[in-house]
Amino acid sequence: MKATRLEWTDVPGDGARRVEGRVAVLVLDLPGKSANLLGSAMLADIAERLDQVDAAHQSADPPVAGLVIASAKAGVFVAGADLTEFIAGLDRPADEVVATCRRGQTLFARLASCDYPTVAAIDGVCVGGGLELAVWCDRRVATDSPKTQLAFPEVKLGLMPGWGGTVRTPRLVGLGNAVELVTGGENVSANEAYRLGLVDDLVAVEAPTDSPTADDGLPPLPMDAAESAVVQAAVRLVAAERGRDTEDSPPSWRADRERLAGPIRQSDTELMFLGATASAVIHQKTKGDYPAPMAALEVLLEGATRDSEAACELEAASFAPLFGSPENRALLNVFFLTDRAKRESRGPKSGRRSDAPIDRVGVVGAGIMGRGIAAANVRRGVAVGLCDSRADALRDGVEAVVREAAYNRATKGVDADLAIERSALVAAASGVDRLDGVDLLVEAIVENADAKRSLLAEAERALGPDAILASNTSTIPITSLAHGLERPERFAGLHFFNPVRKMPLVEVIRGAQTSAETVERLVAHVRRLGKTPVVVNDGPGFLVNRLLLPYMNEAALLATAGVPFREIDRAAKSFGMPMGPLELHDVVGLDTCLHAGRVMHGALPDRVVPAAILDRLVEAGRLGQKNGKGFYNYGPSTKGKPPRPQHSAEAAVLADEPSSAIEGELADRLLLPMLLEATRAIEDGIVRDVRDVDLALVLGIGFPPFRGGLFHWADTLGAAAIVERLEPLCSLGARFEPTETLHRHAREGRAFYDTPEAHR
Ligand code: NAD
Repeated sequence: MKATRLEWTDVPGDGARRVEGRVAVLVLDLPGKSANLLGSAMLADIAERLDQVDAAHQSADPPVAGLVIASAKAGVFVAGADLTEFIAGLDRPADEVVATCRRGQTLFARLASCDYPTVAAIDGVCVGGGLELAVWCDRRVATDSPKTQLAFPEVKLGLMPGWGGTVRTPRLVGLGNAVELVTGGENVSANEAYRLGLVDDLVAVEAPTDSPTADDGLPPLPMDAAESAVVQAAVRLVAAERGRDTEDSPPSWRADRERLAGPIRQSDTELMFLGATASAVIHQKTKGDYPAPMAALEVLLEGATRDSEAACELEAASFAPLFGSPENRALLNVFFLTDRAKRESRGPKSGRRSDAPIDRVGVVGAGIMGRGIAAANVRRGVAVGLCDSRADALRDGVEAVVREAAYNRATKGVDADLAIERSALVAAASGVDRLDGVDLLVEAIVENADAKRSLLAEAERALGPDAILASNTSTIPITSLAHGLERPERFAGLHFFNPVRKMPLVEVIRGAQTSAETVERLVAHVRRLGKTPVVVNDGPGFLVNRLLLPYMNEAALLATAGVPFREIDRAAKSFGMPMGPLELHDVVGLDTCLHAGRVMHGALPDRVVPAAILDRLVEAGRLGQKNGKGFYNYGPSTKGKPPRPQHSAEAAVLADEPSSAIEGELADRLLLPMLLEATRAIEDGIVRDVRDVDLALVLGIGFPPFRGGLFHWADTLGAAAIVERLEPLCSLGARFEPTETLHRHAREGRAFYDTPEAHR
């Protein structure tokens, strides 16, 4: 089955001038998929269609008036290259990669060298290779639908555009804008693209509907692309361009082709200035851990001085070393982990989910977490009843939820209209009995098992029989909280991370009696909130905290042993962690960490060794950022930014005198206990596989994406090498002893990702 088809349409007459010939509409329609992806089949098809149009142009009288490229997929023009083909070719030698880029460039360049004007008709997602295809056309028309988003996201996968994107884009929108688009990788709306000159014309569409997108997994809507408004607009543009063929001005598509084939006119000073400012911004963002944006910047700057053909050669040559690099492999892994999570939580499994959507939610506990959870629901149009035993906390909580739910990222402030609209979705409830109509109640009160149990029992009595109860506890086993409930099958853990607005992960914790339907409904609801669910079985610390604790505790043990705090944090940050583990202690609160450590020590006494410095700091009244002093001192926050940690002599003296040299590299000391605990979590059946762990850590604690996840990183070292690195550390205790899983992988020379599921 073909991935494209060719339709023909007449050119509309416009009174005085009559344009001869018909317009070919090349419709992209990858069979069996909801989105177009540029893989080898689609590219071969495009080449064949271009041959057909060329042949028609030669033979028809009058010849072809122009070519429009459109998509038959609702909400998607082209969603980028086919990454499964990328994965299969990661080990290819550099010259083959260069050749692939050159073939793509040559194919797309036909759109800028044929004997008729070419126009891309863009409705919906147009990213990566799709945008490259579009920028090679003479003109671009886009709908102003919110789904029309244009981007070069290649840098987010450790790559850069390789089919001429770095060459055509700066020639269309200017070098500065192209640098931002290509090295930043962010989406731009159709309106913004029009402002930049990336598209030439906009087509107004009706108010957004809930039509399926590339993400829905639904079959494409049947539609005759040639008849759609954007295609008609593209055809009109062809007519307008052809009409200009006989005039001297404004410049026609032919004149533009000539201009775009040459170097960009820019003085050396301008180039130098742009290079210096852009590389400073990139360095600040990537901290040198992500090579692609800098490589793309160099290609853009150097390519600007050459003609288009030479710039394409440079692009291909510079793309090759990025392809298959460790960062590229790691980021592709994270992409596929996220994609798997999306696909899995899409369709109902039991068939009951769609019958029982969650439309009203009760949140008990209007503290930090309760407010964040309530706001996340309200932002997605879910009505929330908020309850707290303290009247002042409830009043402040409702206000905070409205403010948070109406926060506008673009203006970095509260949107007044949204606040009015969304305040209608938040109600204060004086007691749990007032939440009787909710479909889901999330408990987010103090971390005390008795208080939680009694609240859950009260809620169960008040709520309808189908309602789900969930707890946001960070440490208390879900199965133990279910004791005394009449319907434990309708109770689960729903563990959000702090701050809720920023953190994309939610652990859905299955207690011993939680039903599959409850898990499914919660997973669906988490997705509705725009978050990524990871389903985990009950156990101490569930998944994320269980793995975070060995890492944080090891940092506290090193601090106790007299290793300078900054050195410990620096080692973690050099590895790529977003903040050092001691800074993280201060953010979470040292009293909270102490409590969590004790709970984990109770559950896993052989490997969670209490770190004396935590007791000493808390005793000295140092609780972390919340009171301005913890491992570090903190001044007041400025310009809304969190305060910077400052050295504290008072905290440093609470460490022991360093007695001897510290065993092992600091990064190994911090990360290997986390890895060993992760192998145990899988042995204990807390999650299904290494991919659940890696996704949860990247999204839950900011494990560096350029490492690809904890197990992906471990695979780059190899199990045998890890066992070797652990040998000198074993004397420190059970937390450094290789587990059965690690030994087995080392013996068999097998990667952790070497499982049948891992390749799906
Ligand atoms: P918090 O102290 O900020 O808020 C708790 C709120 O619950 C307070 O407003 C309190 O008045 C109210 N409350 C206490 N008992 C109540 C009762 N019986 N009925 C109604 N209201 C009651 O606490 P938080 O940081 O929001 O944590 C809430 C829960 O979320 C805890 O279980 C905690 O372990 C968990 N959690 C916290 C974080 C975090 O970083 N703060 C992260 C994940 C999970």
